[in-house]
Amino acid sequence: MTLWSPLVAEDYTNALRDHVRQHITPHAFVIDRDDIYPVDIVKELARSGLSTITLPEKYGGGGKGFSYGVTLLEEVGYGSASAAICLITIFQASTIMNLFGQASLKDRYLPLFRQGLLSSYALTEANHGSDIRSLDTKAVRDGDDWVLTGEKQFVTGGVAAELFVILAETDVGVSAFAVPGDAAGLHRYIGERSATFGLRNGPHVNVRLDGVRVPADHLIGVEGKGVRQAVTTLNYSRTLAAGVSLGIARAAFDGALKHAKERVAFDSKIVEFQGIQWYFAEMLTRIDAARLLVYRAADALTTGEEIARYGSEAKLMASTLATEVASRAVGICGVYGVTAESPFGRYLRDAKAYEVGGGSVEILKNTIGKHLTRDLV
Ligand SMILES: Cc1cc2nc3c(=O)[nH]c(=O)nc-3n(C[C@H](O)[C@H](O)[C@H](O)COP(=O)(O)OP(=O)(O)OC[C@H]3O[C@@H](n4cnc5c(N)ncnc54)[C@H](O)[C@@H]3O)c2cc1C
Repeated sequence: MTLWSPLVAEDYTNALRDHVRQHITPHAFVIDRDDIYPVDIVKELARSGLSTITLPEKYGGGGKGFSYGVTLLEEVGYGSASAAICLITIFQASTIMNLFGQASLKDRYLPLFRQGLLSSYALTEANHGSDIRSLDTKAVRDGDDWVLTGEKQFVTGGVAAELFVILAETDVGVSAFAVPGDAAGLHRYIGERSATFGLRNGPHVNVRLDGVRVPADHLIGVEGKGVRQAVTTLNYSRTLAAGVSLGIARAAFDGALKHAKERVAFDSKIVEFQGIQWYFAEMLTRIDAARLLVYRAADALTTGEEIARYGSEAKLMASTLATEVASRAVGICGVYGVTAESPFGRYLRDAKAYEVGGGSVEILKNTIGKHLTRDLV
């Protein structure tokens, strides 16, 4: 498929595609089947400067616009959405620190991302999923430290994380904290029912905080503004997640088209049946349209224009499209789309899981609705 990649140097995209083809795609089946965190893949993407492509150069980043980040997630997502979601949690942690953290916190942690620091983003609790306006995890000030107590769940990448960004409630509201993975009192474990059927990159973990102490500057940004900070950061990660979904849709499309050009039924290649061609025509048109929207959202992150609206539109469009394309691809490939060895079941499971994680389709529609009604009193 010819791909239009606005605002991104062609060399970058081509090199990335080669890297994914050689080093990521061959491992996608096993990562998914065995539900493992691909440490080597993620560390290598960091060492080659890719997972910090959007961080400022003074912290060792590439200093590029978010179109570069979206291209990274789209191409890695094409090879393995499970590997891509590892990068999303790293982007989330580095982005919230970069946008809101104190200078001392940024100086301490941001350069470590270039060296491969693995991080996770822990918002969800047993009683708080979409609604994080109040939380059961608490943080209290004690001298020069903050002390955190509570439990998080469904933490992606938590099996390997060396740093967690954790939302906890203080006296004045929800606040965000940076918490080292080896902090005393931090326990991670694989909770009951924490394995998911899609986006499998090591079972999600629960993180229990038994009076975990962090220094004062590990409060990220302003106390009580954690929800706003987390939502702003989610606007960034939603756009990147839309890139992952776009990658899944493209992979399913390409795989199905290849099969349809090879498979013969009733003396014809199945792609020669008009009904099958129409499926591909519709999918290609919608993938092209989704790409325009996703890169529009990426550009908005660079210009700062209506990021909540565009990020939500992009993830809504790309995540639902990926599920539809993956589902159609299974049908086009017949039993070869259904076998356990084929990648189509993985595409379908990953696509559906990304309709929930990182902002469900309903919450995205609420955000777009809020944008439409913001002038009402
Ligand atoms: C693959 C995956 C990875 C994840 N990784 C992480 C992670 O790394 N860190 C983390 O903290 N969490 C993570 N989560 C959890 C995720 O953030 C939550 O699943 C999500 O916030 C939704 O919360 P919930 O599942 O509790 O659903 P609920 O909040 O219980 O919602 C249930 C349903 O109601 C809908 N709903 C809720 N509120 C509204 C409303 N106001 N209007 C309309 N509909 C509404 C939802 O869209 C959903 O359909 C992950 C989830 C998945 C699937």
